[in-house]
Formats: sequence, structure tokens, C-alpha cells
Amino acid sequence: MEFWEEEIETMPREQLEAMQLDLIRKKVAEMYEVSEFFRGRMQSVGLTPEDIQSFEDFRKIPFMTKSDLRDNYPDGLFVRPYDELVRIHVSSGTTGRPTVVGYTRTDVDNWSNSLARGMTSLGMSSKDFVQNSHGYGLFTGGLGIHYGSELVGATVLPISTGNTSRQIQLLQDLPVSVLVGTPSYLFHIADVCDQTGVSIQKDTKLRRAIAGGEPWSESMRQKFQQRTGVKVFNCYGASEFYGPMFLECEAQDGLHVWADLCYMEILDDEGNPVPDGERGQIVVTMLKKEAFPLIRYKIGDISSLEWTRCSCGRTHPRLMRISGRSDDMLVVRGVNVFPSQIESVIGEFPELSPFYRITLTNPNYMDEMIVEVEFTEESLKEDTAQVNQFTRKVSSRLKDILNIKADVRLVLPGTLERFEGKAKHVVDNRNYD
Ligand SMILES: [Zn+2]
Repeated sequence: MEFWEEEIETMPREQLEAMQLDLIRKKVAEMYEVSEFFRGRMQSVGLTPEDIQSFEDFRKIPFMTKSDLRDNYPDGLFVRPYDELVRIHVSSGTTGRPTVVGYTRTDVDNWSNSLARGMTSLGMSSKDFVQNSHGYGLFTGGLGIHYGSELVGATVLPISTGNTSRQIQLLQDLPVSVLVGTPSYLFHIADVCDQTGVSIQKDTKLRRAIAGGEPWSESMRQKFQQRTGVKVFNCYGASEFYGPMFLECEAQDGLHVWADLCYMEILDDEGNPVPDGERGQIVVTMLKKEAFPLIRYKIGDISSLEWTRCSCGRTHPRLMRISGRSDDMLVVRGVNVFPSQIESVIGEFPELSPFYRITLTNPNYMDEMIVEVEFTEESLKEDTAQVNQFTRKVSSRLKDILNIKADVRLVLPGTLERFEGKAKHVVDNRNYD
């Protein structure tokens, strides 16, 4: 069994928790000093750093949420000057307010190290060749996986997303052993291989894949593995943490959450911790993050944490599958989409009524998004050419805002269902079985 940092990865729980409490208290004291935002939060509930002596005390600190990031756009929550930063990533957020995250050199190192531990735990080493199909650029997926892979000494092919035929060509021509992408893109590659008569087992050296960026199910994984002979490991993270950060080990039974880097709470709706293994809201405190620290950040995902010893020998708790979101954010082909973004685009066109419906499907496990929206009575178009032209205009504007393509369908006034009270705008028919 190989480890990246054996001593820390196999440290007993009591020692890990003592280390966490120590790091929490240091981080709280530092943040109280340097962050006006955080000091204000502490003061709002009458706390000073000296009051935080236990995990229970720590739970008195109010949560941070996405709306705090939005309210402090772009960099109001950074606690280091740009001189000390080496990288910025930007992810999509609600209308007009993406999330901007910054990194010091230490932040990039800790991020890469977190991935290097996880990659080693799933059996990767310097012998591996990684084809990284995550998007490079503002999205954290591409560069995150890239740096982690290089740190373990693997060879990286920074191919990024798209151009599937070239992806498949290079899979055959180069000794690629690990493919990284969103689950839906991995399925798409497998489909195109089938259609073009390429056998992943015979024509490539691919034996492992890392899937992240969107939810999928255990049965989807089993199907993919049976079909391709490639073992798939889950990856979880968020740009607010650093990026993709936690991976499954060879046991494929939950993702090790490195307790010296991240203190993860799982809470019920009243904010109390649930027993180990039970589902609840994920709340994250990053213990060593420098430029843009997170203290009790409610990410919006729901899952459970298992502290039972893993068969791989690692003692750090395992995060089980994400089973839902607590807000209205949708993840479509790995991209965060908020219905409010779509609503604001619709609002830009006087020809459209505010009635719309978003329908999500996933034929062949590839997400598709249909946006139906009504014309107003006054602006009904007479001929098809006009309708088509207008549809293209709305589609292109949506693509600009969402960064993914939506299938826009304009419908007659009064077609879409009316709701009393809160409208139900999203129909999610995606099937992960
Ligand atoms: Zn393990």
C-alpha cells in the first residue's frame, strides 16, 4: 500500500481532531485580526477568539454562505494582498456575480498536495499518464488536476474539454492510463468509442478514470466500469475550497477528506451535528487556506461522513456520495446554473413573458437543458423564420451568460403551467440509474 504522506494519512482520529482544534483556534484568531468581515460576524454573536476552546464553541460562529461571497464580490473576502497571490480562478455564480477565488503559493501547494495524496490512494504514481479532459482556464478542474498529477510525477496531457475524436485518437496513440473528466463526458467518450469501433480494453492502455464536477450514481459507475473495464474514482471539491480536492481511494468507498486541511461538519437543519454516517448539510472550514479562508462555509451540498477505518489504512474520514443540494443551484454538464440567471436573460427581452420552464434530461448520461419560454400576446411572431431568428438570439444570449448551450423553445402565451405561490421552474428528469 502506497502513501503520499503516510504519517499524517494514518494518524489516529484523536490526534487528528486535536490538530484540527488547534488549527481552528489559530485560524479564528488570525481572521479576527485581519478580516473585517469575520470580526463583524464574531461580534454579531458576542464572540472573541478566546471564547473558542472546543468544537462546540466553534459551532457558535455563524455560517458563511454563497451570498456572503456575492455581497463581497469580487475580492472583499481576500485577506492577502494581490502581491502575495499567484493565481485567481473565477466560477459561475448567480446573475452578474461570479465567485472569484485567490491563491497564495502555499494555497496552490496545499491544493496540489491534497490531490497528490488522493491520487496515490487510488493507485496512481509517476508511472501514470493522465489525459486531463477537465476544462483549463477559469474553471478550477483543469489546472487543479494538472498540478496534482504533476506532483505525483505522472505525465499530463492537458487536452481540456471537447474535440472528442481527437481525445479518442490520443487515447490510442499515447500510453494514457488515467482519464479525467465529468461523468457525462466519460460516458460520451465511451459512446463515441463504441460508435467508431474503438475498444478501450484492446486499443488503449486506459485502466483508471477520475470523475468529478457533477453528481452521478453508483449504478452509473458500475455500468461504466463493466462496459469499459476502466475503474472510476470519484472526486469532490469546489472553487471555494481550492477546486477539486478529495478523491476516493482504491476501496472506492467514499472520498478521504484530509482532516489536517479541512474540518468538515455534517449538520441537521437546526445546525446540530448529526451522528457519524448520517446525512446532513456539509459545512466546511479550511484549516490552512491563506488568501481566501473559509470558516464554517455552507456549500449547499448534502452528504454524510464516515470515520470508520478504511480498508486502505487511512484514518481520515470519508465523504459519501452527494445526495442533493439545499438551494436551487443546478449542475448541468459540470457547470453551475442558477434559474435566476435564466430568468434575468428572459427579462432582457420585452417580447418574452416571465413564464418559463427549465427541463433537464440526460440521454446517454449527457445532460441536456431545455428552456421553454412564452411570447407575450403583443409580440406573437407571424412567420417561422422570424421565430427561428428570435430563438437564436435568445439562445446565444443564454450561452453567453451560462457558458453552456440550452435548447430554447418559444411557446404560445398561456402554454406553461401557472402556479399559485412559489412557481416550480425546474423539472429535473435526469436519470442516474
Ligand atoms: Zn481509503
